[in-house]
Amino acid sequence: MHRIPLIMAVISDIAGQVRGKGFPATERDERLEKGVGYTFTNHMINCWGQIPATPWGPLGDMVLMPDPATEVEVDFGDGSVVERFMLGSLYHMDGTPWDCCLRNYLRSAVMELERETGLMLIAAFEHEFNSTGMRDRTGDSYSLDKIRLAGEFPEAYLYALRAAEAEPETFLPEFGANQFEITVKPGRGVAAADRAIVVRELARAAAERLGHRVSFSPKVDPNNAGNGVHIHMSFRDRQRQPVAYDPDMPHGVSALMGSFVAGILRRLPSIIAVTAPSAASYQRLNPHSWSSTYNNLGHRDREAAVRICPVSDAPGANVAAAFNVEFRAGDAAASPYLQLGILVRAGLEGIRDKLPLPETTSSDPDAMTDAERAAKGVVRLPTSLSDALDALEAAEGIRDLIPGELFDAYVMHKRGELAAIDGLDDAEICRRYAEVY
Ligand code: GLU
Ligand code: MG
Repeated sequence: MHRIPLIMAVISDIAGQVRGKGFPATERDERLEKGVGYTFTNHMINCWGQIPATPWGPLGDMVLMPDPATEVEVDFGDGSVVERFMLGSLYHMDGTPWDCCLRNYLRSAVMELERETGLMLIAAFEHEFNSTGMRDRTGDSYSLDKIRLAGEFPEAYLYALRAAEAEPETFLPEFGANQFEITVKPGRGVAAADRAIVVRELARAAAERLGHRVSFSPKVDPNNAGNGVHIHMSFRDRQRQPVAYDPDMPHGVSALMGSFVAGILRRLPSIIAVTAPSAASYQRLNPHSWSSTYNNLGHRDREAAVRICPVSDAPGANVAAAFNVEFRAGDAAASPYLQLGILVRAGLEGIRDKLPLPETTSSDPDAMTDAERAAKGVVRLPTSLSDALDALEAAEGIRDLIPGELFDAYVMHKRGELAAIDGLDDAEICRRYAEVY
């Protein structure tokens, strides 16, 4: 069959979906200059393809400008259609960035951080996901057998990631049934979030070619383990030297990183509506499931909202270069741009306010008394998306973190999403989200 290669120019939107428009590869140069048309209301398409409400209606035109630095071209070598896409940003017709473009939002957050503090953000998104269509067996958590039963998928996926320069690091047979995890090398600022999208999309692409489906939804079944997105963060200074580590500070966390983490944890009870933005997210954020339920800081603790990650104690190890903190209260129902952007903005507030590193919790916050929790400044995170949105809307100064128009659109979008699943039981909610993430 004769074909013309098609390149998709795409964005990641409020629903955390990747949408856009395509053009023939023969017109690549022209499209890099003039982009493709886009409309405001597309941001209000929820994860199930509905538009319950929109502030913009049918009005307005924009341009989606593909960024050639993000170009993905993966030939799986099986005769299937080659994957071709570029991530992009949204601009008004006069070329000014659209405030509600999530990639612009992250870019402006990392630029503000750099301008004010000289800090360059380095981040890596670690993803867990479930697969259907592969063989599996009871008790195959972390097992060699689970990789064997997954057949061609792990290697085809790693090939695709390498071809897209997404620098895969590890692929592992996670704890849950049909659950896997992929880690990739860190990137700088916006590039780290671009890479998170490539990680998700190429998993779908490899699975599709093998007749499988994958889902990054935070909880695909109330009885299975949840899928987290863990965001590892560190800083480099203007000379590119690592500056998150200071051996003279508690747990080796530098003063700047300490304030950044404190800023995130202070805001977490309200911004969790952005980092864990689906109804299914709150089925994952349960006590004792290695996700997060409090806004606590942990040292090597996998149930803390932010974990100070282990580094080698071996003599001669370059601890400063490897040192990082991990944000664990997020999932893939969120656009990585919005998720990382709001963390940067909350962290920057903490730096401006010179907040000290919070005390780490050394015991389960769930087992503490209210007084013990209050003494450590630890609070329970919202237990539903509806409560999380209430907390977001009630948070003082929140519009300093998310500009007005985006804030209103976000809340409207998420309230509409909740209305669409009103009255459904937990299992059905998981099923609905599993289909679309
Ligand atoms: N599946 C857990 C989560 O929902 C994380 C397990 C792990 O620490 O790898 O975040
Ligand atoms: Mg994991």
